[in-house]
Amino acid sequence: MAIRVNPKIIDDLEGYGAEDVQLCYHCGNCSAVCPHADEFNVFPRRPMRYLQMGLERKLETSLEPWLCYYCGQCSDQCPRGAEPGETMMSLRRWLISRYDITGIARLFFKSTKVELAAVIIVALLTGIFFLGFGLWQGDINVYDGSNAFLPSSFIHNFDLALGFLVALFIGLSAFRFWWFSMGGKSAVPIPWWLYIKKVYLLPWHFFTQKRFADCEKETTRRIYLPWLAHLGLMLGYVTMLFIVMVFVKQLQAGPEINWSVHVFGYLASLGLLIGAVYMLRGRLKKNRTQYQRSHGSDWIFLVLLFIIALTGVTQHILHRSGLLLAANIVYIVHLMVVVPWLLRMPFTKWAHMFLRPLGMYFSAVRNEALTRQRSGIETTVPARKVA
Ligand code: SF4
Ligand code: SF4
Repeated sequence: MAIRVNPKIIDDLEGYGAEDVQLCYHCGNCSAVCPHADEFNVFPRRPMRYLQMGLERKLETSLEPWLCYYCGQCSDQCPRGAEPGETMMSLRRWLISRYDITGIARLFFKSTKVELAAVIIVALLTGIFFLGFGLWQGDINVYDGSNAFLPSSFIHNFDLALGFLVALFIGLSAFRFWWFSMGGKSAVPIPWWLYIKKVYLLPWHFFTQKRFADCEKETTRRIYLPWLAHLGLMLGYVTMLFIVMVFVKQLQAGPEINWSVHVFGYLASLGLLIGAVYMLRGRLKKNRTQYQRSHGSDWIFLVLLFIIALTGVTQHILHRSGLLLAANIVYIVHLMVVVPWLLRMPFTKWAHMFLRPLGMYFSAVRNEALTRQRSGIETTVPARKVA
């Protein structure tokens, strides 16, 4: 196979956040301290090397950036200040833009102004749409039931259409991720049954983010706060997404509280608020290595998330207090933030939520295929034992 060299790849990666790759002189300290590097995945040193050599294809097919949780220990130990942790983060942004077929991710990562402008335009269009629709068919002083300003059945269908669109783009990116790393562009033949054998790893990594907790084991703090904040945030938005998609009618009905649904809404809001505040505070104070350099898209993600949680809670309180006009106005503001936030998901850092567990799963499958290949074990379907 021809080796594709891109001498400008380091310059290109600067647009995604990496700035000091050239400083690396390959001492290997970073890989030695990384809690997740192993015999198959010698990162972050290897991706640093690929970058300096311009080996674009190798980077495109690599799973290693997805195995990093940006604990920052490698950057702390780098004698050259080459910021390997930030480089791994930048590579994940770069890979998201490679998997995305629309080119939107690249545009957003390369220019925060463009991303911000897109968010503002979508927010304004959303506001105009829902305000016009509400005034046309309902009463702005009615929140639920007949003549509601924004009927829950309409919001439900709108949510489903939005969810379908987001799932479509995420699905396309996930397919290209597989194709680059495991399919057509992979050098290792992977037997299909290994995918089935390891499939439990997908929900495991998705719901526990356990490898992030493992990062903390290596430090002296062992307080697991970053992991807890990350987990709270992740479980918060998954839960919220689920109840909004499925139970929006129960959420919007009232004024009495439907505890079987609302209790999950309260927990999810709490997780979102605490997680967003913890991360915004960390980035403002730059109190951890991974918060030293924030990309514009990180700020947009967290600020939008914070506003979503805040307007969601405010709208709920106003509705339960009988202040229906105010509740409807805050509802529109809430939707103005939710829609651009959801729509940007497949093209920004939010895609991590799906791509990282997928990367862990692919890596486990590929490692076992490699082990079997090295030890000469047959990689086709395992034969049944004859009694
Ligand atoms: S990034 Fe730093 S620690 Fe890692 S190999 Fe390069 S110089 Fe050494
Ligand atoms: S940031 Fe942490 S997990 Fe990522 S490569 Fe560096 S040491 Fe490993």
